[in-house]
Amino acid sequence: MINTASLIGMTLPSWASHLENKLAPPPLLLVQAFVNTVDLDLRTDVLALADEARAWLADAGLRAPELPDFAADLQLTRDVRASLRAMIARNTHGQPLTEAELRPLAQVTSQARPRLEITADGQVRLETGDPARRVTDGLAGLLLTIRDAQADGSWDRLKLCGNPDCRWAFYDRSHSRRGAWCEMASCGNRLKNRSLRARRAQSAEAAGSAAG
Ligand SMILES: [Zn+2]
Repeated sequence: MINTASLIGMTLPSWASHLENKLAPPPLLLVQAFVNTVDLDLRTDVLALADEARAWLADAGLRAPELPDFAADLQLTRDVRASLRAMIARNTHGQPLTEAELRPLAQVTSQARPRLEITADGQVRLETGDPARRVTDGLAGLLLTIRDAQADGSWDRLKLCGNPDCRWAFYDRSHSRRGAWCEMASCGNRLKNRSLRARRAQSAEAAGSAAG
Protein backbone atom coordinates (compact mmCIF):
# COMPACT_ATOMS: atom_id res chain seq x y z
CA MET A 1 0.00 0.00 0.00
CA ILE A 2 3.09 2.17 -0.09
CA ASN A 3 2.24 3.16 -3.64
CA THR A 4 -1.18 4.48 -2.74
CA ALA A 5 0.23 6.32 0.25
CA SER A 6 2.82 8.05 -1.86
CA LEU A 7 0.06 9.44 -4.07
CA ILE A 8 -1.80 11.04 -1.20
CA GLY A 9 -1.40 14.77 -1.18
CA MET A 10 0.29 14.75 -4.54
CA THR A 11 -1.52 15.72 -7.70
CA LEU A 12 0.30 14.34 -10.70
CA PRO A 13 1.31 16.97 -13.24
CA SER A 14 -0.17 16.46 -16.72
CA TRP A 15 3.23 15.42 -18.12
CA ALA A 16 3.22 12.50 -15.66
CA SER A 17 -0.35 11.36 -16.29
CA HIS A 18 0.91 8.12 -17.86
CA LEU A 19 2.46 7.09 -14.52
CA GLU A 20 0.36 5.26 -11.98
CA ASN A 21 2.39 3.99 -9.09
CA LYS A 22 5.89 3.58 -7.70
CA LEU A 23 6.49 7.24 -8.39
CA ALA A 24 9.87 8.88 -7.90
CA PRO A 25 9.93 11.99 -5.72
CA PRO A 26 10.04 15.26 -7.68
CA PRO A 27 12.15 16.43 -9.43
CA LEU A 28 13.28 12.86 -10.24
CA LEU A 29 9.64 12.24 -11.22
CA LEU A 30 10.27 14.12 -14.47
CA VAL A 31 13.14 11.76 -15.37
CA GLN A 32 10.87 8.81 -14.64
CA ALA A 33 8.04 10.29 -16.71
CA PHE A 34 10.44 11.04 -19.57
CA VAL A 35 11.93 7.53 -19.84
CA ASN A 36 8.43 6.01 -19.50
CA THR A 37 7.10 7.94 -22.50
CA VAL A 38 7.75 4.64 -24.26
CA ASP A 39 5.64 1.71 -23.03
CA LEU A 40 6.94 -1.62 -24.34
CA ASP A 41 4.02 -3.54 -22.88
CA LEU A 42 1.30 -1.41 -24.47
CA ARG A 43 3.48 -0.64 -27.51
CA THR A 44 2.85 3.08 -27.21
CA ASP A 45 5.31 5.93 -27.52
CA VAL A 46 4.52 9.55 -26.72
CA LEU A 47 7.56 10.56 -28.78
CA ALA A 48 6.56 8.54 -31.87
CA LEU A 49 4.49 11.27 -33.51
CA ALA A 50 5.85 14.78 -33.91
CA ASP A 51 2.75 16.69 -32.75
CA GLU A 52 2.24 14.63 -29.63
CA ALA A 53 5.96 14.72 -28.86
CA ARG A 54 6.14 18.51 -29.31
CA ALA A 55 3.20 19.00 -26.96
CA TRP A 56 4.56 16.66 -24.29
CA LEU A 57 8.04 18.23 -24.34
CA ALA A 58 6.51 21.70 -24.03
CA ASP A 59 4.21 20.59 -21.21
CA ALA A 60 7.16 19.05 -19.35
CA GLY A 61 9.15 22.27 -19.80
CA LEU A 62 11.88 20.52 -21.78
CA ARG A 63 11.55 22.45 -25.02
CA ALA A 64 9.77 25.57 -26.21
CA PRO A 65 7.24 24.41 -28.84
CA GLU A 66 7.78 27.24 -31.34
CA LEU A 67 11.53 26.65 -31.86
CA PRO A 68 12.62 25.50 -35.35
CA ASP A 69 14.32 22.19 -36.29
CA PHE A 70 11.97 19.97 -34.36
CA ALA A 71 12.88 16.83 -36.33
CA ALA A 72 16.53 17.00 -35.23
CA ASP A 73 15.53 17.83 -31.65
CA LEU A 74 13.10 14.94 -31.56
CA GLN A 75 15.74 12.50 -32.80
CA LEU A 76 18.17 13.68 -30.12
CA THR A 77 15.42 13.46 -27.49
CA ARG A 78 14.62 9.85 -28.42
CA ASP A 79 18.33 8.95 -28.36
CA VAL A 80 18.79 10.59 -24.96
CA ARG A 81 15.77 8.69 -23.66
CA ALA A 82 17.39 5.41 -24.73
CA SER A 83 20.63 6.47 -23.01
CA LEU A 84 18.85 7.41 -19.78
CA ARG A 85 17.07 4.03 -19.84
CA ALA A 86 20.51 2.40 -20.15
CA MET A 87 21.72 4.47 -17.17
CA ILE A 88 18.74 3.30 -15.12
CA ALA A 89 19.34 -0.31 -16.20
CA ARG A 90 22.84 0.07 -14.71
CA ASN A 91 21.20 0.43 -11.29
CA THR A 92 20.39 -3.28 -11.39
CA HIS A 93 22.66 -5.04 -13.87
CA GLY A 94 25.73 -2.80 -13.68
CA GLN A 95 26.82 -2.96 -17.33
CA PRO A 96 28.96 0.00 -18.43
CA LEU A 97 27.36 2.37 -20.92
CA THR A 98 28.35 1.81 -24.52
CA GLU A 99 29.83 4.44 -26.81
CA ALA A 100 26.50 4.64 -28.67
CA GLU A 101 24.65 5.23 -25.39
CA LEU A 102 27.07 7.94 -24.27
CA ARG A 103 27.09 9.83 -27.58
CA PRO A 104 23.68 11.58 -27.33
CA LEU A 105 24.41 12.54 -23.73
CA ALA A 106 27.73 14.07 -24.81
CA GLN A 107 25.85 16.04 -27.46
CA VAL A 108 23.59 17.44 -24.76
CA THR A 109 26.41 18.35 -22.39
CA SER A 110 28.46 19.99 -25.14
CA GLN A 111 25.55 22.07 -26.51
CA ALA A 112 23.60 22.94 -23.38
CA ARG A 113 23.93 26.32 -21.74
CA PRO A 114 22.12 25.81 -18.47
CA ARG A 115 21.52 28.97 -16.46
CA LEU A 116 21.17 29.08 -12.72
CA GLU A 117 18.81 31.17 -10.67
CA ILE A 118 18.62 31.82 -6.95
CA THR A 119 15.16 31.94 -5.45
CA ALA A 120 14.16 34.37 -2.69
CA ASP A 121 14.41 31.55 -0.15
CA GLY A 122 18.02 30.96 -1.11
CA GLN A 123 17.65 27.85 -3.23
CA VAL A 124 20.05 27.43 -6.16
CA ARG A 125 18.34 25.87 -9.12
CA LEU A 126 18.29 25.63 -12.86
CA GLU A 127 16.44 28.57 -14.36
CA THR A 128 12.90 27.50 -15.08
CA GLY A 129 10.22 29.30 -16.99
CA ASP A 130 12.53 30.26 -19.83
CA PRO A 131 10.04 30.66 -22.68
CA ALA A 132 12.72 29.92 -25.32
CA ARG A 133 14.13 26.83 -23.71
CA ARG A 134 16.13 24.74 -26.17
CA VAL A 135 15.86 20.98 -25.93
CA THR A 136 19.55 20.57 -25.06
CA ASP A 137 19.01 22.84 -22.05
CA GLY A 138 15.88 20.96 -21.06
CA LEU A 139 17.64 17.60 -21.33
CA ALA A 140 20.67 18.98 -19.44
CA GLY A 141 18.21 19.83 -16.66
CA LEU A 142 17.31 16.14 -16.48
CA LEU A 143 21.02 15.30 -16.17
CA LEU A 144 21.39 17.79 -13.30
CA THR A 145 18.41 16.20 -11.57
CA ILE A 146 20.07 12.82 -12.00
CA ARG A 147 23.31 14.19 -10.55
CA ASP A 148 21.45 15.44 -7.46
CA ALA A 149 19.68 12.08 -7.12
CA GLN A 150 23.03 10.30 -7.36
CA ALA A 151 24.36 12.55 -4.59
CA ASP A 152 21.47 11.87 -2.21
CA GLY A 153 21.18 8.15 -3.02
CA SER A 154 17.69 8.25 -4.52
CA TRP A 155 19.01 7.51 -8.03
CA ASP A 156 19.77 3.87 -7.12
CA ARG A 157 16.09 3.34 -6.39
CA LEU A 158 15.06 4.13 -9.96
CA LYS A 159 14.99 0.79 -11.81
CA LEU A 160 13.65 -0.89 -14.92
CA CYS A 161 11.09 -3.64 -14.35
CA GLY A 162 12.64 -7.12 -14.44
CA ASN A 163 10.04 -8.33 -16.94
CA PRO A 164 11.86 -8.07 -20.31
CA ASP A 165 8.53 -7.35 -22.06
CA CYS A 166 7.85 -4.43 -19.72
CA ARG A 167 11.01 -2.59 -18.61
CA TRP A 168 8.89 0.16 -17.04
CA ALA A 169 10.94 2.55 -14.91
CA PHE A 170 9.72 2.38 -11.31
CA TYR A 171 10.91 3.87 -8.03
CA ASP A 172 11.77 1.22 -5.48
CA ARG A 173 10.70 2.45 -2.03
CA SER A 174 11.17 -0.95 -0.43
CA HIS A 175 13.29 -1.05 2.71
CA SER A 176 15.53 -3.75 1.25
CA ARG A 177 15.90 -1.83 -2.04
CA ARG A 178 15.47 -5.16 -3.78
CA GLY A 179 12.23 -4.46 -5.64
CA ALA A 180 12.42 -5.93 -9.13
CA TRP A 181 8.96 -5.38 -10.66
CA CYS A 182 6.93 -2.38 -11.68
CA GLU A 183 4.03 -4.27 -10.16
CA MET A 184 4.09 -7.68 -8.50
CA ALA A 185 0.57 -8.56 -9.67
CA SER A 186 1.18 -7.88 -13.35
CA CYS A 187 4.89 -8.44 -13.95
CA GLY A 188 6.28 -10.28 -10.94
CA ASN A 189 3.65 -12.99 -10.92
CA ARG A 190 3.53 -13.24 -14.67
CA LEU A 191 7.25 -14.08 -14.75
CA LYS A 192 6.95 -16.34 -11.74
CA ASN A 193 4.14 -18.22 -13.45
CA ARG A 194 6.16 -18.36 -16.62
CA SER A 195 9.20 -19.92 -14.90
CA LEU A 196 6.90 -22.21 -12.92
CA ARG A 197 5.37 -23.41 -16.19
CA ALA A 198 8.87 -23.86 -17.65
CA ARG A 199 9.94 -25.92 -14.62
CA ARG A 200 6.79 -28.03 -14.80
CA ALA A 201 7.30 -28.66 -18.49
CA GLN A 202 10.89 -29.61 -17.81
CA SER A 203 10.07 -32.05 -15.02
CA ALA A 204 7.26 -33.54 -17.10
CA GLU A 205 9.72 -34.03 -19.90
CA ALA A 206 12.28 -35.57 -17.51
CA ALA A 207 9.60 -37.88 -16.08
CA GLY A 208 8.58 -38.79 -19.63
CA SER A 209 12.10 -39.67 -20.74
CA ALA A 210 12.74 -41.62 -17.51
CA ALA A 211 9.55 -43.60 -18.07
CA GLY A 212 10.37 -44.21 -21.74
ZN1 LIG B 1 6.70 -4.46 -15.28
